[in-house]
Amino acid sequence: MFQKLSPPTSGETIHMETGNRLRVPDTPILPFIEGDGIGPDIWRACREVLDAAVNKAYAGKRKIHWFEIYAGEKAQAHYGEWLPEDTLKAIATYRVAIKGPLTTPVGGGFRSLNVSLRQLLELYACVRPIRYFTGVPAPVKEPEKVDFVIFRENTEDVYSGLEWKQGSNEAMRLIHFLNNELKAKVREDSGVGIKPISITASKRLIRMAIQYAIDHQRSSVTLVHKGNIMKFTEGAFKEWGYEIAKEAFPQQTITEDELWQNHDGKAPAGKIVIKDRIADNMFQQLLIRPHEYDVIASPNLNGDYLSDAGAAQVGGLGMAPGANIGDQAALFEATHGTAPKYANQDKVNPSSLILSGVMMLEHLGWQEAADAVVQGLQKTIQQKRVTYDLARHLEGATLLKCSEFATAISNNLA
Ligand code: NAD
Repeated sequence: MFQKLSPPTSGETIHMETGNRLRVPDTPILPFIEGDGIGPDIWRACREVLDAAVNKAYAGKRKIHWFEIYAGEKAQAHYGEWLPEDTLKAIATYRVAIKGPLTTPVGGGFRSLNVSLRQLLELYACVRPIRYFTGVPAPVKEPEKVDFVIFRENTEDVYSGLEWKQGSNEAMRLIHFLNNELKAKVREDSGVGIKPISITASKRLIRMAIQYAIDHQRSSVTLVHKGNIMKFTEGAFKEWGYEIAKEAFPQQTITEDELWQNHDGKAPAGKIVIKDRIADNMFQQLLIRPHEYDVIASPNLNGDYLSDAGAAQVGGLGMAPGANIGDQAALFEATHGTAPKYANQDKVNPSSLILSGVMMLEHLGWQEAADAVVQGLQKTIQQKRVTYDLARHLEGATLLKCSEFATAISNNLA
């Protein structure tokens, strides 16, 4: 089946049931990509904590069978390419995988391995929960009010790679077409990018966000857009969001307008409020009134900015988990990069990858193990036993190496 990979001889494959629900065996085979730079350090830490939590929560009844697959520098060494077909095939086959950060190759035809993975596997939602862990140094006064999940569209918008260099034949032809056929006024010396936003991609993303809100008893889904200016792309995203809520979830949702018109601003029990905010306003809303936001759905670029700004509010990217999810597969990943200057020093904070692992456990339906990790991490931070990035801002902290931090979490599992 694979060119160079040998899957584990024990363990079982996760299957997909109708309605895109996973059937997860007690011994699932889960592929992992260690990642480049600090990847091996944080992956070792993550694996130790996840295995300990699963063991603790299920007393040996459940166990993950890890399966190493390759992307980035390790793939170069094994295959002579950055993203081998084997890797894509393994993630598609086993349905759930986890990865460390990957170097973005300079040249070689890839804009980014992460973007390629998302697009090739049709992982159309980038999911980023943003929440606060007590004791983490944060730049805002009330970080504990932050608890929202961002669903960022992953496959289109200005990220879709439809971009042409100033002066190129393609740019000149496009400008010529725009100016002559569509009576636009684009300067001849422009580079040009295209921003497609489709009904298909918008509705499937917003549907996933609303389903998440239902499954996790969240109270609202906010559509973030810049539709006051870009009416037919961002504005349409918003309109299609309200449409899919009415079409697919008529019993479970209510719009913010209906909330005020018919219910005096108080949501009836069990109803999720669908609202929208313009992107620039949303940045200040998340700083000033974070508790009013719960699940957020957004096109690609807004979502990119919001995710990092949100992560900064609760203590930075070192703590922020992420996942790229589609209908057929899900890939959980650290949100920071490879931090090459810290590679192999056993120094950095593995929390982003560990918390991505928590999302993965939740995705499998292994909530007890996920909760155990969160409690273990929370306890370790409250004991002020942390890695350098947190220790330097915490008075009285005990500085731990990456591996020591993982062991401390494992020992603190509830
Ligand atoms: P980076 O996130 O790797 O590092 C920026 C700085 O953040 C580091 O120098 C370090 O001070 C800090 N940092 C990052 N992770 C940390 C952790 N776990 N604990 C403590 N501190 C941490 O960003 P960069 O330097 O812009 O990118 C380096 C490489 O990573 C590039 O090749 C880039 O393309 C790639 N990258 C990959 C991903 C990904 O795989 N998801 C994401 C971003 C960047």
